Amino acid sequence: MSSLRPTILKIGGSVITDKEGQLAAKTQEINRLAGEIHGASVQNLIIVHGGGSFGHPSAEEYAIKEGYKEESQKVGFSITHHYMTVLNGLFMDSLIWHDLPAVSVTPSSCIITENGRIKQFEDASVKSLLKMGFTPVLYGDAVLDTKLGFTVLSGDQLVSALAIRFEAARIIIGVDVDGVYDADPKLVKTAKMLDRLTLEELKGLQGKLGKATACDVTGGMFGKMAELMPALELNIPVTVVNASKPRYVYKALEGEAVKGTVIEKE
Ligand code: ADP
Repeated sequence: MSSLRPTILKIGGSVITDKEGQLAAKTQEINRLAGEIHGASVQNLIIVHGGGSFGHPSAEEYAIKEGYKEESQKVGFSITHHYMTVLNGLFMDSLIWHDLPAVSVTPSSCIITENGRIKQFEDASVKSLLKMGFTPVLYGDAVLDTKLGFTVLSGDQLVSALAIRFEAARIIIGVDVDGVYDADPKLVKTAKMLDRLTLEELKGLQGKLGKATACDVTGGMFGKMAELMPALELNIPVTVVNASKPRYVYKALEGEAVKGTVIEKE
């Protein structure tokens, strides 16, 4: 049994899938990351992963984020949720193959949103899993919504909510770029990476942070940072690292020096 404050690790959809494709899992990357997570053996870890090319294409095709408008969207909701369970299954396979006591927790079964924001979260099983030393694994998902009927819950909103509920010690965000830049590094060649940011500095920068470049109904650095602000307000530090580069996530989990952006309240 453990009473340590948890670490929340987010692995972006852009890291474990090819966002240019459809249902294109990067299985080698998933395996490498599972090995790194196992190697770091962090106690009290919660993992959240994104949807990438499993979640976003069908969410977009059926306008799931915008909510229920017509019957034909319902199968789109089912497809979006189902594809997320498929990606989650691949990730779970790899985590468990690496001997991690990881247990998948389905967001759409325990979370209901209101206008896209988490309203109800039956978190008793996550709490019990943590207490027993399991690693709960959640993901961005298609969820029911009290006002919209349904919508898309981003992995990033989930990360922030989990961090606040479980009083996380820290949040580690794994993306496919080296950290937070003063402009989207994929669009602006001269963009400068920022090693450290305070919450105030982050707020000042928000206008410059871009949306996601490839298919993504929730993403981009702008949305990510906006979601993380409530956790930062509560003094939970956030480290953004490149999860596509070998050993970066391992080092971040171990608390070793690693290239990336550290954001703290002050
Ligand atoms: P994920 O799906 O992995 O959660 P997103 O694609 O939603 O990640 O967000 C990460 C992307 O945000 C990066 O690939 C990058 O191109 C883009 N981005 C936009 N603006 C910035 C910025 N200022 N700094 C870093 N990345 C940015």
